[in-house]
Amino acid sequence: MLIFHTVQQLQKYLGPQRQKGLITGFVPTMGALHQGHLSLMEESKKATDLTVCSIFVNPTQFNDPKDFEKYPVTISTDVELLLKIGVDVLFLPSVKEIYPNGTNDQPHYDLGFLETVLEGKYRPGHFQGVCQVMHRLLEIAKADHLFMGQKDYQQCMVIDHLINTKHIPAKLHIVPTLRETDGLAMSSRNMRLTKEERQTALAIFQTLIQMKTELQPGALQKIKENATAFLTAKGFRVDYAEIAHADSLALLDNWNGNDPAVALIAAYIGEVRLIDNMQLTA
Ligand code: AMP
Repeated sequence: MLIFHTVQQLQKYLGPQRQKGLITGFVPTMGALHQGHLSLMEESKKATDLTVCSIFVNPTQFNDPKDFEKYPVTISTDVELLLKIGVDVLFLPSVKEIYPNGTNDQPHYDLGFLETVLEGKYRPGHFQGVCQVMHRLLEIAKADHLFMGQKDYQQCMVIDHLINTKHIPAKLHIVPTLRETDGLAMSSRNMRLTKEERQTALAIFQTLIQMKTELQPGALQKIKENATAFLTAKGFRVDYAEIAHADSLALLDNWNGNDPAVALIAAYIGEVRLIDNMQLTA
């Protein structure tokens, strides 16, 4: 595996590979890698000739500075995992390399409704940061294919919007959420949970299953209330337990029995904020 720290080194290597006709896949991450991340790399390896992974903890997407400070960094273990699964290139840039003019004065992206709802509402500025880093990374890597996780459902929609509005020639692949054997969605943030909190965290998955079981045409208010009440009783501080149209993310108060629907949850256990989601319809 080749490891590059600068844009210049990375592009010097990738340019000739593309000229040879190799199809490239890109998997952006913030490190503290787990099997969920590796499943994206596996998909890229299957679909492309050359897989590039990046590890960059992007300061502009953390609306909470404490979350940024406490974000786990495990580079040497990450490198071992990437070597084991045979990723071709690791890009490990510094903040200066990604934001040569500093992190202030970054472009603003018009994300419309997506920025007003769910993660957009509860994490002001978060998706601006996501777009700033992804726009830059996609311009640097110039990959043919981009692999992202359904775990970050709204983020996938934001990136799809970015690709379309900025005419970025990368095809987005959305990879299903990988879960622990008990159902908890894998996440770098899980590392920050105590043993007890880790047990409690499972309630998010259980709630999503329950929401799926309860779904029927009619008012959804009760389902959402039950979900919030269950999580609160378990000790969570719930940002939201919502049901939305799976294509637009418009929040649904009623379900007509036909529209594709997705349940989305964001909740804190102690200081750790976890998110998860589940498609409610086929
Ligand atoms: P992160 O390092 O958290 O920014 O995540 C990097 C990529 O991995 C994003 O596209 C995430 O959606 C994806 N990802 C994170 N957790 C999972 C998971 N449990 N299953 C599949 N993909 C995931």
